[in-house]
Amino acid sequence: MSKYVSVDPATGAVVKEFDSMTDSEVDAAVEAAHSAYLSWRHADLGARTALLQRIADQYREHSDDLAALMAAEMGKPVTQARGEIALVASIFEYYATTGPDFLVEEQLDIAGQGSATVVTEPIGALVGIMPWNYPHYQVARFVAPNLLLGNTILLKHASNCPQQALRIADLISAAGAPVGVYQNVFATNDQVAQMIAHPAVQGVSLTGSERAGQAVGSVAGAHMKKCVLELGGSDPFIVLADADVPSAAREAATGRFANAGQACTSSKRILIEDEVWDEFLEEFVAQARQWTLGDPSSADTRLGPMASVAGRADLEEQVQDAVGKGAEVHLGGTVPDGPGAYYPATVLSGVEPTMRAYREELFGPVAVLYRVASAEQAIAVANDSPFGLGAAVFGGDEARAREVADRLEVGMVGINTTVKSAPDLPFGGVKASGVGRELGRFGLDEFANKKLVRKL
Ligand code: NDP
Repeated sequence: MSKYVSVDPATGAVVKEFDSMTDSEVDAAVEAAHSAYLSWRHADLGARTALLQRIADQYREHSDDLAALMAAEMGKPVTQARGEIALVASIFEYYATTGPDFLVEEQLDIAGQGSATVVTEPIGALVGIMPWNYPHYQVARFVAPNLLLGNTILLKHASNCPQQALRIADLISAAGAPVGVYQNVFATNDQVAQMIAHPAVQGVSLTGSERAGQAVGSVAGAHMKKCVLELGGSDPFIVLADADVPSAAREAATGRFANAGQACTSSKRILIEDEVWDEFLEEFVAQARQWTLGDPSSADTRLGPMASVAGRADLEEQVQDAVGKGAEVHLGGTVPDGPGAYYPATVLSGVEPTMRAYREELFGPVAVLYRVASAEQAIAVANDSPFGLGAAVFGGDEARAREVADRLEVGMVGINTTVKSAPDLPFGGVKASGVGRELGRFGLDEFANKKLVRKL
């Protein structure tokens, strides 16, 4: 029976193990989610917003212990972990306060032919499949709008963060969620497929790798269930010749090394116009040096271990492939001695299309710098990727930076900033980065029935 295992990434010690559920437990969870939906969908809107507000309050109240558990189970430095918890609280609060505006009936203008009203209704029980890299935020942005709508949730979290999965379920229950409205399921992949196929389940949302997205998307397609996929990214960060170089270098380093580089929207490919290459390289390497490795439970640590030794081994292979084929290492690039999944802040240049690092997502603290002859070439390299999640364009002339931004094949782009998630901003990508949007009004509409009520 496959297990959900909590391993401390700083030491490699197995901390706790949990068995997967049995098939009949999974069936019972689906039935409970469906039965909860039949009443939750009719619960007073005030009751639904009050629950969301209490969940936000719970997150704020338990910020320190949730951050400590995040550090212990997936290696996020506690200061960054507290930032994630604050964002999560703000997401629940946003849907508690602003969310009801999105549920107001909309009258369509149909000039003298009676009336046409669009009503926003829930659709049923949903399956959420979430990753370990932002273990609370990824769950929150799926759960908050759907609890507001009146949908119910079966949440299958990543197998390497079971303690946090249970903690989320406890916290939502402590906030007063009725039985069956939110359930954690320690399911196997086969059981996830069975849940999606179940007639009571109406949709699935997954955040994770392309491989998982393809597997889950095809099951959803086979059973005609709505799906949202938030997959990987290899976000370009373009530095134009007139950019404020020190500021761009600082932002790029934070964009690349925060969360040990394990974010879908990390600034993974930094494209620098020729004129400012030398200055940027020097500034960036100086910034990268400040991301020193340390114990994730210490408030001073900026770069903790990666979430797993397996993830580090994949990253190490990608770096070695690039170095073996001629890439230059400006900083880092070697696995340190000792226990845990530590990998240092690494800066590479000279990465070519023949190297894995050119096309694949580098899910760890490795920045790849590309020297480009012009903005035109930066756009071409930026778009020469299977992914299309986020991007950043840094330049002194904002109108010019905007022209560059408009030509990027991505779902989100920042001008003189990296893309930072917020409750009211849509989040999602194009190409292999996924399907659909999360957060804001857009996230709420994904699993809503936009029902037309027509009168003549
Ligand atoms: P996965 O995509 O394998 O895991 C994400 C979630 O999907 C987990 O809950 C996982 O469960 C689940 N999952 C995986 N395969 C299936 C399936 N066939 N059916 C149902 N559920 C499934 O990510 P990994 O942790 O293995 O990381 C691998 C790579 O994925 C990273 O290196 C990175 O490139 C990318 N990634 C991207 C993320 C993002 O934010 N865009 C987040 C995490 C990873 P289980 O843990 O039980 O396998």
